[in-house]
Amino acid sequence: MSVLSLPRSALYFFDARVQGHIELTPAIPGLWKLSSESWTEQGTDQIAYSMTALEFLHSGKHARVLKGKASYQSPTGDWKETGLLICKVAFGVTAVEKLRHEANIYSKHLSASEVCGDVPKFFGLYTGQTRRAEGETVLGMEVGLIVLEHCGEAIPAYDKVHVDTRLSIFYAIARLHVYGHICHNDLRPPNILMQSAGDKTKVKIIDFGSATKHAHCPRGDVELDLFTGMSAGPVVPCDELQLVCEETAIVPSFKYFGEVFSTDDIGSAQALADSALTPKYALSSDALMTAESVWGDFMEWIKEWEKHDPNLLRLKSD
Ligand SMILES: [Zn+2]
Repeated sequence: MSVLSLPRSALYFFDARVQGHIELTPAIPGLWKLSSESWTEQGTDQIAYSMTALEFLHSGKHARVLKGKASYQSPTGDWKETGLLICKVAFGVTAVEKLRHEANIYSKHLSASEVCGDVPKFFGLYTGQTRRAEGETVLGMEVGLIVLEHCGEAIPAYDKVHVDTRLSIFYAIARLHVYGHICHNDLRPPNILMQSAGDKTKVKIIDFGSATKHAHCPRGDVELDLFTGMSAGPVVPCDELQLVCEETAIVPSFKYFGEVFSTDDIGSAQALADSALTPKYALSSDALMTAESVWGDFMEWIKEWEKHDPNLLRLKSD
């Protein structure tokens, strides 16, 4: 069984006065091996890691988020270091349970080949106990740690990214619904990461702490119409996809899974790897050109729309 050793100072906002390490053991095994930089090998390792926490990123509702790297001893005896990782650390029984829920989502719902490219690689949930060190008054507490692949920075705002990136966001969420059978429930720019590599832009969805099961995402011939979709409440019988369409402002180019999109567009993992993450992807289905051609009209329409009281219009349409 693998063990993950984490400096205790990382648990205390990098307080250098806090000495020693805490040892954590796997509670939910990872889907990928940490043992190579490229992380292309699926499965769980049986070796010991020493985590180096490099930077405190932010505090969420239940967990603190750190950036780090793991090092480990290879079979030949030399020490190797992994690439950048994200560690989500939670303290106390309640917070650790929340982390366990998220780890289960990664492990059970986000492992399918169709969706695993839309989220960071999951390297497992580790748990353990802090112990009262000599001279300290803090009692022992349950600690949980999710280890994930580092996948770039959050998008600043939906309207600050190119329309093809917004299309990629929509596709990613659609795949989470259709193939992962989950609703994210907390979609907003800080939970959408973007990483540029050459001319490619990869989009990754993170933070599944509020995710719930979504057994069947309604789809088919339902149209996302410019007016009814925005003014008369959800036309698509899936609130979250409706929300993504509206917030990314890609609504007017789409007929939801209709003429413009088909299930082929949200495709296989291979299709995703080949093209879905590149700006060229949307062109393949003409969706990007359509989106750009209506973009100007749509922004004009939004200005008009903002003059009205949406609630008033919604009542009227009922
Ligand atoms: Zn849905």
